[in-house]
Parts: sequence; structure tokens; C-alpha cells
Amino acid sequence: MTTAAAAEPYARTVELNRAPAGDLWCFGCRKRLVHADVLLDHADPARRNPYIGPWWARQCSGCGGDHTYFPGCGPL
Ligand SMILES: [Zn+2]
Repeated sequence: MTTAAAAEPYARTVELNRAPAGDLWCFGCRKRLVHADVLLDHADPARRNPYIGPWWARQCSGCGGDHTYFPGCGPL
């Protein structure tokens, strides 16, 4: 069973800032595409963490995800 939240992990976030990350290889789209570094935070103020704060996420212009690392070699 899939939920809408699982399909859209960034649906409940707000974009605070955006910076260009240049052309990077996306292993999801399998081509070089323009990427952006986006500063995200929870849309619900009650869920915001004052110790961690907003976080930066890299987004591909093709798929919207971060597949710039070789599969299995990313930080997560
Ligand atoms: Zn992509």
C-alpha cells in the first residue's frame, strides 16, 4: 500500500531558498541535467526542529530527486 506522503516526500515542506548547483549527472534520469540546492523546512511550524533547523536538499530538474551520487555510495 502506498500513501501520498510516501510518493511525495517534499509535499509537506516549504522552500526557503534556492541556489543553482550547475549541470550534474543524474543516475535516475541517466543524463546531465541542471540541478539546484534548495533550502527546505517543514510546512507545519509545529514540526520544525529549532536545533536542526531547515536543511539543504539537491533537486534534479528532470526527476526532482537527488541521484547525483553513484547508487549505493551516497551519504544516506
Ligand atoms: Zn533526475
